[in-house]
Amino acid sequence: MSAPDTSVKKTSTSLFDTFSRAPLEFERGEGAWVFTREGDAYLDFSAGIAVNTLGHANPVLVQALTEQAGKLWHTSNLFRIPGQERLADTLVANSFADRVFFANSGAEANEAAIKTARRYHYVNGQPERYRILTIEGAFHGRTLATLAAGGQQKYLDGFGPKADGFDQVPFGDMAAIKAAVTPQTAAIMLEPIQGEGGVRAFPNAFLREIRALCDAEGMLLILDEVQTGIGRTGKLFAYEWTGITPDILTSAKGLGGGFPLGACLATNEAAKGMTPGTHGTTFGGNPLAMAVGNAVLDVVLADGFLEHVRETARYLTQRLGGLMDSHPGVIDDIRGEGLLVGLHALKPIPEVVAALREQKMLAAGAGDNVLRLLPPLNIGKAEVDAAIEKLDAAFSAIEAEAATSARQSA
Ligand SMILES: *Cc1c(COP(=O)(O)O)cnc(C)c1O
Repeated sequence: MSAPDTSVKKTSTSLFDTFSRAPLEFERGEGAWVFTREGDAYLDFSAGIAVNTLGHANPVLVQALTEQAGKLWHTSNLFRIPGQERLADTLVANSFADRVFFANSGAEANEAAIKTARRYHYVNGQPERYRILTIEGAFHGRTLATLAAGGQQKYLDGFGPKADGFDQVPFGDMAAIKAAVTPQTAAIMLEPIQGEGGVRAFPNAFLREIRALCDAEGMLLILDEVQTGIGRTGKLFAYEWTGITPDILTSAKGLGGGFPLGACLATNEAAKGMTPGTHGTTFGGNPLAMAVGNAVLDVVLADGFLEHVRETARYLTQRLGGLMDSHPGVIDDIRGEGLLVGLHALKPIPEVVAALREQKMLAAGAGDNVLRLLPPLNIGKAEVDAAIEKLDAAFSAIEAEAATSARQSA
């Protein structure tokens, strides 16, 4: 075990104290690795929480951004933005959607989705249909509306009345969903795989039932693919595994490969209420973000890329299976799809994350006591092997620690 790095200063008190940050700062990155000032290399299987789709300092993205930076940064949506039109065309050509609205984050993309769904019923002459059904364990963002949609009390506490218009039902409970639908329900909103909630996937049959229910009741289906989209599960969007299509879908995290970028995709029908003046953004879809977003999608949609993701994921899952067999006291379940992997732990997640950090590997915690592995999508077997070695060492350290404290208390 290395000595604690005393060169890392305490976080400046000039910042809001909203994050409990790890005592680490990185100076540069390359592929799946990030480096401290001292030159310590960390294997990054958190990828900025499913953001760095193509790894750190990817030359293709660096070139796209710097080229655009030398030409034009920002003009606002008062004018046509060619990069927006190209990126929207690409998303439309490769999904269920007919139209795209660009924003800067996942929460903003979800705000656009919520407004689109409400507005759809409004222009249909049913303004009373504004309520949205969401699922327990969901995470949709930190704005007031998306917090209400996510419904997690710990995030809502102290922020005044919860925004109206969201009704939450237990995870995976079709009867509860059916019972919660009222003449005021506009839409059902869910993540095909709950990310922050603990990498919890809905079975395809369940999603098909949801789709049928939406159709029967005239409700829209909103899929929050902020975390699951842009190749993370081995398809461009996770819904492609399910046999259904949504009416509205949101994307962010991986879409900009590290540049802030969100998008709300919709069918023509679902977006029909979003006429000039109904919604807007100063920064959304700005030329810098579009240059990077287009470059990300050009790579992700190139021949063989998603197949490579699926292949790498199969190898990772197979090796994780072996790891679980050798550490049955540390993890007892492997979940997820593609390179959105959850390991259900039998020890507290902060302890597991810290043990991994000791081995110079980064991974993200999640709800339901799950450790999330979210590597860049362009990793290969070498990075998987390195991760397995570090996970193995971290789990062994946890077991040794547990054995020591058991002896001491005996
Ligand atoms: C991260 C996330 C969000 C929020 O995205 P921000 O960019 O942090 O606003 C929303 N939905 C899901 C599923 C997410 O994982």
